[in-house]
Amino acid sequence: MNATENRLPISLEFFPPKTPEGVDKLAAVRAQLFALQPEYCSVTYGAGGSTQDGTLQTVQAILSEGVDAAPHFSCIGATRESVRAQLAQFRQLGIRRVVALRGDLPSGYGSFGEFRHASDLVAFIRAETGDHFHIEVAAYPEMHPQARSPDADVQAFAAKVRAGANAAITQYFFNGDAYFRFVDEARKLGVDVPIVPGIMPITNSSQLMRFSDACGAEIPRWIRLRLMAYGDDKASIQAFGLDVVSQLCERLRAGGAPGLHFYTMNQAHATLQICQRLGLA
Ligand code: FAD
Repeated sequence: MNATENRLPISLEFFPPKTPEGVDKLAAVRAQLFALQPEYCSVTYGAGGSTQDGTLQTVQAILSEGVDAAPHFSCIGATRESVRAQLAQFRQLGIRRVVALRGDLPSGYGSFGEFRHASDLVAFIRAETGDHFHIEVAAYPEMHPQARSPDADVQAFAAKVRAGANAAITQYFFNGDAYFRFVDEARKLGVDVPIVPGIMPITNSSQLMRFSDACGAEIPRWIRLRLMAYGDDKASIQAFGLDVVSQLCERLRAGGAPGLHFYTMNQAHATLQICQRLGLA
């Protein structure tokens, strides 16, 4: 296999930094990661109390560095008017792609607003702006935690694509079978857009366990037990994490995954190491 055949599109996810030091640090992280020639970067919104301003500032910084960038855009609590205004701002800033989400109510309470599901947001963006935006949506190979059943969740995913999404990024997972099964089920429902696996590098056990419990991503028992056994031994956690996640990516590539979307956690090292293992760096 030559270098070109080996090429698998990658994208990178960042969260907006909260301090000026964080902004500088993320700029340095991006400079390292851009050696991977990402297709685009996405920037989260709302998670951890971040604001849309922080998201947009980070998106603008990435665009000014010559890399395509997409804000995550969640509709929970929004009105048609507020979404319309936000879309106008995106257009004004030269943004051409968005990751369209429902989002979560802070601490589970509050009002849903005028959009019930992400599919409503996707349909609204298409109705308001035609083909201006490339729209990514979320997919859950291990089922979204609030879904009635795995079947209902794949149906809900297919509805987002029918509403006009161009592609999907999955929640992270460590079980390749869950991804392949999800893709098969989606294809049977007529979904033909790329479903790009979201990849979470393993660098920090307690953080990973906290995130996974919150978002419903399973850490298989054999991985959890080993991570717990390593305790505070960061070097062993990182070496093990690199093996596990690189092997997962290899399997996904061999099974036809259309790309890899890295949850970088605003760190360069782990993503770079995985890509080096895969021959992508
Ligand atoms: P939806 O697609 O609307 O699904 C939510 C639930 O409703 C699911 O259980 C689904 O099965 C169900 N559902 C959907 N449509 C229907 C229907 N028509 N009928 C019945 N049930 C339906 N959160 C943030 O706060 N900020 C971020 O930046 C962020 N980025 C993310 C990026 C990715 C790639 C992923 C995978 C998740 C991200 N999240 C983010 C988390 C996301 O906001 C939550 O998982 C949220 O709970 C669901 O959002 P969604 O867009 O998947 O919602």
